[in-house]
Amino acid sequence: MTSDTKKDVIIIGAGASGLLCAVECGKRGRSVLVLDHGERTGPKIRISGGGRSNFTNLNVTSGHYLSRNPHFCKSALARFTPRTMLALVEKHRIAYYEKEAGQIFCIKSSRDIINMLEKEREKAGVEMRLKCSAADIRKEKHFTVTTNQGVFRSDSLVIATGGLSYPNIGASGFGYDMARQFGLKVTQLRPALVPFIFSSQDQEVFRKLAGISLDATVSSGLKRFRGSILFTHIGLSGPAALQISLFWKPGALLKIDLLPETDILGVFFSQRQSKMEMCNLLAGYFPKRFAQVWCDTMMTAKPLNQTSDKELSQIANAIHAWEIIPKGTEGYGTAEVTAGGVDTDELSSKTMEAKNVSGLYFIGEVIDVTGELGGYNLHWAWASGYAAGQYA
Ligand SMILES: Cc1cc2nc3c(=O)[nH]c(=O)nc-3n(C[C@H](O)[C@H](O)[C@H](O)COP(=O)(O)OP(=O)(O)OC[C@H]3O[C@@H](n4cnc5c(N)ncnc54)[C@H](O)[C@@H]3O)c2cc1C
Repeated sequence: MTSDTKKDVIIIGAGASGLLCAVECGKRGRSVLVLDHGERTGPKIRISGGGRSNFTNLNVTSGHYLSRNPHFCKSALARFTPRTMLALVEKHRIAYYEKEAGQIFCIKSSRDIINMLEKEREKAGVEMRLKCSAADIRKEKHFTVTTNQGVFRSDSLVIATGGLSYPNIGASGFGYDMARQFGLKVTQLRPALVPFIFSSQDQEVFRKLAGISLDATVSSGLKRFRGSILFTHIGLSGPAALQISLFWKPGALLKIDLLPETDILGVFFSQRQSKMEMCNLLAGYFPKRFAQVWCDTMMTAKPLNQTSDKELSQIANAIHAWEIIPKGTEGYGTAEVTAGGVDTDELSSKTMEAKNVSGLYFIGEVIDVTGELGGYNLHWAWASGYAAGQYA
């Protein structure tokens, strides 16, 4: 393609949302060019779900998304449901399974999803340019996209450049910059679905727990999640910790129930006369190393029959409502997503087109719609890409 070639639609970003949108535009007979600065398409799909891509969730509803406008995502989600995605996956004979809580993963590999999208793209006659980095966009009569491979023009322009997390695999702030350049508001951005870092003091104590994983309930404010937590050398990770990071505000405390299935105070009182050391009793409920560190740190070692009722209540409270204020999170380097993005007030929830810039569309993670862990973010990428694909 030479620099004076014009397409109906240019899509910047060959990730989840960009590829699905490209297929839909192509099916409508639009001439489409997708460009991406990476060497391969779908870099985040590839690493998603630990290489098996948790590509949708059977329980998708707007309640699993965080956005300044919680209603914005409803229309797109209603038109592209988990069933729609599964029908596409089944058409390509990709084996999948439900792991837990509606989370759908590939049995073999996330590459199956990329191959499926690539086949659909080719069938829809969509052109792809890789190692093609968008540097600037202008709009006069048409959109003009300046790249390292030349200048391209189109009637419609779709920005599908994703969020800031995992910069090592091609994430960039290009979409946010372009939104601002065209006068669209961008809400505050922050890393989310990300491990926490403890204060240096807490790190010193709790690094002895590194590698231990527990079933717990983690809450911050009114939000709570049940699932595994994993102690790291510097803080806390694991699904329940990642989930709560979406709602956690810097400086806020985390409240953790370390034994959500057990009434530990009831257990203490049922053994009231026992000469057993508290630590030995707790070792029956926790991994041994955890019980040891917890006892050394949080209480004075004594047998149960020499521990006062008040002390027993305090120990139970520390187990069921352990409070810790993280210093922060690990940031974009390990975050699964960027929370915040192009303000939904600026976009049509039906088409994803900017209300004040005709022909300019934003889809996927670059929008201020962030899903919980469990396949919701990829599903938003498909649903928003599909919505724009019917109009761009
Ligand atoms: C480790 C990890 C695991 C994850 N696992 C899951 C999971 O199992 N389930 C789930 O639902 N979500 C998961 N996510 C989140 C999910 O992958 C993203 O939310 C989703 O891919 C976003 O889709 P997108 O199309 O908006 O952006 P992306 O898929 O990130 O695509 C953006 C594309 O734009 C390109 N680009 C950026 N800037 C430019 C530029 N200037 N010029 C040209 N191209 C550019 C990038 O190279 C990239 O290919 C995971 C994320 C990470 C980091």
